Parts: sequence; C-alpha cells; structure tokens
Amino acid sequence: MYQGYDWFQTDSTVTLVIYTKQMSMFSEMVTADYQDNILRGEITIEDYSYLLLIELSHAIEDFEVCTSSITGKIEVILQKEDHKAWKNLGKSLEGNNTFIKKSQRGVYYRKCRLTSKTAINHNTRLFTIELPQCCYLQVPVGHHVYLKLPIEGMEIVKPYTPVSQDLVMDHIQSTDSKNKYIYLMIKIYTNGSFTPHFDKLEIGDPVSVSSPQGCFRMAQIEGIEDIFLVAAGTGFTPMVKLLKTVLSSLPSLRKVKLIFFNKTEADILWREHLETLCLSDRRFEAQFILSEPSQSWVGHKGQISSSLLSEALTRSKEDSSVWICICGPNGFVDQGLRCLEDLGFTKEQLFVFRE
Ligand SMILES: Cc1cc2nc3c(=O)[nH]c(=O)nc-3n(C[C@H](O)[C@H](O)[C@H](O)COP(=O)(O)OP(=O)(O)OC[C@H]3O[C@@H](n4cnc5c(N)ncnc54)[C@H](O)[C@@H]3O)c2cc1C
Repeated sequence: MYQGYDWFQTDSTVTLVIYTKQMSMFSEMVTADYQDNILRGEITIEDYSYLLLIELSHAIEDFEVCTSSITGKIEVILQKEDHKAWKNLGKSLEGNNTFIKKSQRGVYYRKCRLTSKTAINHNTRLFTIELPQCCYLQVPVGHHVYLKLPIEGMEIVKPYTPVSQDLVMDHIQSTDSKNKYIYLMIKIYTNGSFTPHFDKLEIGDPVSVSSPQGCFRMAQIEGIEDIFLVAAGTGFTPMVKLLKTVLSSLPSLRKVKLIFFNKTEADILWREHLETLCLSDRRFEAQFILSEPSQSWVGHKGQISSSLLSEALTRSKEDSSVWICICGPNGFVDQGLRCLEDLGFTKEQLFVFRE
C-alpha cells in the first residue's frame, strides 16, 4: 500500500485522501473515530493495518467516510465546526501513517452505549448498542467484535458476532440511522464470567466495543456450490449474516443448509424466520437436531456425530464443490471437526468461526 495522505479544504470541510492502491477496497475495511479532538482512522488490508492518528488543529462537528472500490481511494470528509481556514491539519501522533501487521497494532475500543435489550427466548437476548456520534464502524460478514466491561475490579473481554439489522426488525424499534447501531444476540449464562454482568447493565450504560476482528473473506467461497453451516446454540450468530450474504451475492450457490444443534425446541433461535426463509428460497434448507427433545419432537435427535453429519450433508449434485462452516462451544467444534475429517472433508473445505 502507498503510505501517505493528502488533504484539502473548503469553507465548511476538510478532506483527507488516502490512496490504498487496493483494487478491492470495501467500506468495512475502514474504521474511524473522533474524540477529544483526535481523529483515528484505521484501514485493514488482509493481515495489515494502516493507521491515521492526528490531533486536529481545529474542532470538527462530524465526519463521513467514502471509499472507492475501483481506485482504492478513501476520503475522510471532516465537517468544520468554525468554518475558518485551517493552516495545518494538526499534530501527528505516535503511530500515525504506519502500515504494520494487525497483530502488532493492538485492539482499539470506543465507548458505546446500551440502548435496548429484548428477550429472544428463555436465556438469549438481543442487545442494541449505539456507537458514539463520531464513529464509523461496519462489521464485515463473518467477523466479530470484543465487548469490554469492568467487572469486580478487572476488565473482562468477550467476543460477539453482530447480526444484521433486517433480521432484528421484529424486536427493535425502527431506526433511520443505519450503521449507528450494532445488534448482538447473546446467551446469558447465570454462572458465566461476563454475560450475567452484561445483562445487568441499564439502558444508557456504557460498554466498550472493539474494531471488527476475524479472518473470514468472501473470496474463500468464490465458486462454491454447496454450503453447510453447522451451528450449536449461539454459534448460530455468525451464520446469520453469512446466510444472507451467500443467498444474495454468491452466483455459484446451488444449496445452503443449516444444521442447527440445540438442547430443546425452546433453544432454537430464529426458528420461525428460518422456516419462512426455507419456503421463500428453495436453495435454503434448515435441519434442527435436539439433544434433549420433548416426547412430541418428531425431528432429528442426538449430539454431533459422524453418522448424523454424513446423513445431513447431502449435496445438490454428486460432484458439487462444498464448503462447511462450523461454530459453537469448543467441545462441539472439536468434535465436529474430527467427524468432518473422518468423513473425508479436507482442511480447505472447512472453516471455523473462532476468536
Ligand atoms: C468468534 C466468537 C463469536 C461469538 N459470538 C457470540 C454471540 O454472538 N453470542 C453469544 O451468545 N456468544 C458468542 N460467543 C461466545 C462468547 O464469546 C462467550 O464465550 C459466552 O458469552 C460465554 O460468556 P460468559 O463469560 O458469560 O460465560 P463463561 O464464563 O465462559 O461460562 C460459560 C459456561 O461454561 C461454563 N464453564 C466455564 N468455565 C468452565 C470450565 N473450566 N469447565 C467447565 N465449564 C466451564 C460456565 O459454568 C458456564 O455455564 C462467541 C465466541 C466466539 C469465539
């Protein structure tokens, strides 16, 4: 990437221009925050991070970010507060204009606010978190964020995968401000180290939210015909956006099947939505497997095993290209991977959503 940025101004704006020289630049690769007069912009390109960190010479009211996926150009347009001419942009802070490995950069958190919580089922809630006013953050499909809370004198951090806004419309009040909220579906463990404390937050309380994390890339599934999503409990959350994305923008897709493991019927998240989606898109199929079903359950029963998976992973045609994605508690994922390898799937065909 070309390291460096230009800037120019009008009466009301200052525009910073960064030329990444990346031909496939997406808006989700950029995060930007403005707080206490400091502008922080980060661009993630594969495993690398470019940072812009400037203490601005003048205050701003707000900013917007524009990315061009064709030229790789990114513009950060700052709205001046005072409409005066700026003699300079401000002071470059440590790390400004550096392009280094993401792992060396460290995780950045901004202070957000809890704005609603709604029960989804007996132990899972949908939380809406509002980003600060001057914040630009979009979580790419298959990526997660870390939440950080001070709990009993320690900072506890846990990863969560936002679900898309259109899937939560039944549970939240409609908002016009797209990309100002993130929606998280979180299972509360009464004896957990994080979730019971998070659940006790009042509406309006602060919570720190990291920039997006994760290694999934849409390029990994280019040309794939059959996708199997193997999930347990809230391991379903990364599948939500992925499902929507592959159905709308993977031209090669012939079939996508969710194999969803839960204890009881009451634990199945979004069952109605999933059943409706099965009816509206014949490429999609959902299979629910319960480990502790009631007597009236007529569906599949059991824990993840080679025989259950072998029966569930039916291809759309004999030689179709297959990709399998798995997410859930560690024991479930490890067992699932062992079974899938036993069934002859290669490492390239398997993907795990993990930290
Ligand atoms: C990439 C990623 C994305 C995720 N996204 C989501 C999401 O969108 N929604 C969601 O709900 N979760 C998600 N998770 C899981 C989440 O990060 C937490 O692990 C989960 O919320 C549990 O948090 P907790 O600290 O409250 O519970 P924990 O303290 O982790 O405890 C959870 C349960 O495990 C038991 N337990 C803890 N330690 C042990 C032990 N040593 N031996 C036996 N049992 C033990 C506890 O008693 C409790 O019942 C995600 C995880 C990953 C890796």
